[in-house]
Amino acid sequence: MEVIRQIAAAKKHLREESRKGRRIAFVPTMGALHAGHRRLIETAREKADLAVLSIFVNPTQFNDPEDLQNYPRDEEADLRLAEEAGADIAFVPTVEEIYPPGFFTSVNVGRLSTKLEGASRPGHFRGVCTVVLKLLEIVRPDHLVLGLKDAQQFTILQHMVDDLCLDTEVVGVPTVREAGGLACSSRNILLTPQQRRKALCMYRALKRTHFLVKKQGILHTGELLQAIRSAVQTSGVELDYAAIVSRVTLEPLEHVVRGGTYVLIAIRIGKVRLIDNTRI
Ligand code: AMP
Repeated sequence: MEVIRQIAAAKKHLREESRKGRRIAFVPTMGALHAGHRRLIETAREKADLAVLSIFVNPTQFNDPEDLQNYPRDEEADLRLAEEAGADIAFVPTVEEIYPPGFFTSVNVGRLSTKLEGASRPGHFRGVCTVVLKLLEIVRPDHLVLGLKDAQQFTILQHMVDDLCLDTEVVGVPTVREAGGLACSSRNILLTPQQRRKALCMYRALKRTHFLVKKQGILHTGELLQAIRSAVQTSGVELDYAAIVSRVTLEPLEHVVRGGTYVLIAIRIGKVRLIDNTRI
């Protein structure tokens, strides 16, 4: 695996590969790689000739400076995992490389980006879209491989790609979970064992929602949300939001539309914020 830190070098290398007819799949990450990222890299390998990974903790998508400072970083371990998973190239730029003095542009995806995660983290998706668009222009991948764990991010980036006619296919990878069901997340290592047990309430609430919809036929979202809220709150963690929304518009639904619904949960445990979701 080749590690590239400069934009010019990445472009040169990747344009040469494209000219040779090699197809590129791209996995953008913020590092602290885990089994979820591994699955994304493996998917990239299956999809294309060249699997490109980026590792960049993007400051513009953090609205909380403490969160940015505490974000786990371990480049050595990341590069090991990326290589094992089959990445061909790791693009690891510095903040100055991506945002040189005078950087001024930002990408705004409008209404989709101000609700849910966007409401809790103002400006978050502007930062995400800006950096992903820049990375897409550097890498010019045939496939952009994203995790469905970040459901709103997936929907927004798919929109950005469609709206701006970008020449890449967006590929969604189902959420990878730890043995107990907790969704793998870079932030999980910030949890104590007790907090980790409490965090399982999200997975349990999502499973229960599936049960209520599929086995009991409850489609009214008010009733389902009530069940989620009480499941999360009785486990002693702070619920940031629970929402049942359309997978296309991210607007709240009154009734579950089978095959077209996201159930989304965000919680806070101490200083750590976690999200999870399921599709129904
Ligand atoms: P991050 O490093 O958290 O910005 O995530 C980079 C990519 O990995 C995003 O597309 C995420 O949706 C994806 N990802 C993160 N956690 C998981 C997971 N547990 N399963 C699948 N994909 C994930």
